[in-house]
Amino acid sequence: MTISDEPVTLNNRAARLLPQLQTWRRHLHQFPEVSFQEHQTAAYIASELRQMPNLEVSQPTATSVLAVRKGTQPGRTVLLRADIDALPILEENSFEYVSQNAGAMHACGHDGHTAILLGTAKLLSEQAETAGELRMIFQHAEEQSPGGAEELVFQTDLMDGVDVVTGLHLNSQLPSGVVAVKPGAFMAAPDNIYITILGRGGHAAHPEEAIDPIAIGAQVVGNLQHVVSRGTSALEALVVSVTYFQAGSTTNVIPERAELKGTVRTFSPELRERAPELIERVVRGICDAHGAKYEFRYELGYRPLINDDGVAEVLRQVALETVGEDRAVVAQPTMGGEDFSAYLQKAPGAYFNVGSGTRELESDYPHHHPRFTIDEEALVTGVQMMAAAAQRLAQPD
Ligand SMILES: [Zn+2]
Ligand SMILES: [Zn+2]
Repeated sequence: MTISDEPVTLNNRAARLLPQLQTWRRHLHQFPEVSFQEHQTAAYIASELRQMPNLEVSQPTATSVLAVRKGTQPGRTVLLRADIDALPILEENSFEYVSQNAGAMHACGHDGHTAILLGTAKLLSEQAETAGELRMIFQHAEEQSPGGAEELVFQTDLMDGVDVVTGLHLNSQLPSGVVAVKPGAFMAAPDNIYITILGRGGHAAHPEEAIDPIAIGAQVVGNLQHVVSRGTSALEALVVSVTYFQAGSTTNVIPERAELKGTVRTFSPELRERAPELIERVVRGICDAHGAKYEFRYELGYRPLINDDGVAEVLRQVALETVGEDRAVVAQPTMGGEDFSAYLQKAPGAYFNVGSGTRELESDYPHHHPRFTIDEEALVTGVQMMAAAAQRLAQPD
């Protein structure tokens, strides 16, 4: 590290960390591990954290890592969260640190989130004075329901005494370095539906003797859109998408059954509670009308992610000070889901986005795309935001 005349602000310290952030992120990118299998990833994170001063490092579960910085002054307990898992995707990038684990890829940017939280841990651990208690959780298995957050929040003592939570997701659809925050509903609950229509098979030339599950299933698909357009208020966000329809095997046989699967996305907990009955009523009505039976299963995914207004306001202030008015924007709500919502069951908090998309670097592919990558400059913005937010949120009331 060279000695420079620049003032030693958090922003400057984070900017100087870029080569280290790249090293961490590229190592993680090269050796991705999918949800609940992040053993090498967790070992790497723990060994990097153990080289930093003033941190207590532990593993609350087999593949998650916790670093705690106990403050030198009174204050609040702040939880900072990064997710660390990769996806079962065959990477199509060609840079030198491309995935070495064929069939696994950091295609959502969690390698970047991990590097950002390592960088944040480094800055905060080297700080002589800190307020409150800073807990940095490197969470496993965000990408696979029921999610790693559920386990950490409800089966470990991670959240005991936590006053406030924050975390971020890189966003390839926002320009690199932009910080997006919004109060209130931010991300949807991603639930799943499974429908089996039980008809009666027969000869395709004599449909009157059969109960055709395909014709009935087609009506179910069409009528489910009425749940959205006629069954709920236009002011309540709801998406119902049937994404799977499987039936039959040849041209002259009406099959016995049709299998349908799909996703239901909501923000409002009240609407989410009503959704299973609204949907089943349509399935039941159509099947009854045509003499078919059915099986229906509604699978709850992650909870909707509702940001606390007060914490979101603090993050907005931090964003204004960190990246300036031009790059601090109001986030758009998204119908995507995120298990960060589990932490918010135990403490108020807010989740935000840091843009990582740069056309010239081709880092604007959508998340989960086999050519997804990030503009690594965004890692610096991520550290600046996380470290500043942690310090601000840890101040005593
Ligand atoms: Zn993802
Ligand atoms: Zn993600």
